[in-house]
Amino acid sequence: MSSSPKSAEKVSDLDGRPPESTDFANYFCTYAYIYHQKDMLEDHKRTGAYYQAVLSNKRQFQGKVVLDVGTGSGILAIFAAKAGAKKVYAVEATNMAKNARQLVEHNKLSHVVEVIQGTIESIELPEKVDIIISEWMGYFLLRESMLDSVLVARDRFLAPGGALYPSHASIYMAPIRSNLAAQRTSEFQNSMEGWAEFLHEMQHYYQVSLDVLSDGYRSEQKDYYLHTSQWTDTHPQQLLGPAAPIIKYDLNKLTLEELKAPLKSEFVMHMTDGGPVDAFCGFFDVLFKGSDENPTDNEIRLTTAPDPTGATHWGQQTFPLHPPIDCAPGDRLRVSVEVTRRADNQRLLHVKAAVSVEGNSIYAEQSKTPREFRWNIE
Ligand code: SAH
Repeated sequence: MSSSPKSAEKVSDLDGRPPESTDFANYFCTYAYIYHQKDMLEDHKRTGAYYQAVLSNKRQFQGKVVLDVGTGSGILAIFAAKAGAKKVYAVEATNMAKNARQLVEHNKLSHVVEVIQGTIESIELPEKVDIIISEWMGYFLLRESMLDSVLVARDRFLAPGGALYPSHASIYMAPIRSNLAAQRTSEFQNSMEGWAEFLHEMQHYYQVSLDVLSDGYRSEQKDYYLHTSQWTDTHPQQLLGPAAPIIKYDLNKLTLEELKAPLKSEFVMHMTDGGPVDAFCGFFDVLFKGSDENPTDNEIRLTTAPDPTGATHWGQQTFPLHPPIDCAPGDRLRVSVEVTRRADNQRLLHVKAAVSVEGNSIYAEQSKTPREFRWNIE
């Protein structure tokens, strides 16, 4: 078995290892705070969808062995126990495991839920499980790359015919009108004006010219203002056409290798309204359908699509287009997109897109070569 933390801090005999230190600093650290767990818990579209997925499918959980990957506060493990699971292994990498254990004890579920501290990659379980439940989704679905860990858990611990909750996930993009692109352009200009003033001051106060850094500063600021996507609560009225799916994953079948490879997809967005298209709006949904052998009685969908009643804590990722794309109602935008992990931090993403306008409009006629865009998802 893997080495455990100091016995005084032990949560379970099954404890594994903590995350590697860089990954802890980049990713895990925030999850050790109750305020961050609270942020997720009080997102009722999220927590409510998981509650429904488990409690409206009690038949699937009754008498079953369940694994909760990344239990955080322990909430999903508690739902599974309430639905009648025989045993729930609730694995959490951070010290939040200690709070989860407290919560489980307080709710008198210690006879069912065993909280285990350690990364899912480093622990061992004494048996295979019938169900894996996990809330692993990041911005634009894939940011944080926690799905990797769920697939590792599936391959190591899920019994044949077992089910994943959620079982399916899709990413979408839609053309929108938004003031984000214009706002970002003016912020970028302001920042460069600020730089000119700064150069002047440095010369004036210290007789040192920093001009040689201007190109570097400009490209740094450009990356930040023009090539970074942003969290938004997009209103459906901003949509200029329906969202198109970029990819649909069946999590029972997806391999770790496929997931780690660049995501390449070509799709078409149909323009209901005319442009200019200021931005693309990216979001995802997940489905709880169980497995072929153990399908749910009630299929539940958790969507992060633009919603007039307000966004989930994931919001949408808005990708500003500089300059916006002109097109007419009835045109189509043909998009080739590529999503890759950042080399210096594989939990963050790069998105590239090549876009051409098709249809009968003058804009389609002028769109000879695809326009290229790129963004970072921070
Ligand atoms: N299940 C909780 C928390 C979801 S947030 C809820 O739905 O409210 C994801 C949690 O997974 C975080 O607490 C994070 O620390 C944990 N986590 C992420 N990767 C992990 C891994 N590889 N092993 C164990 N825990 C992990």
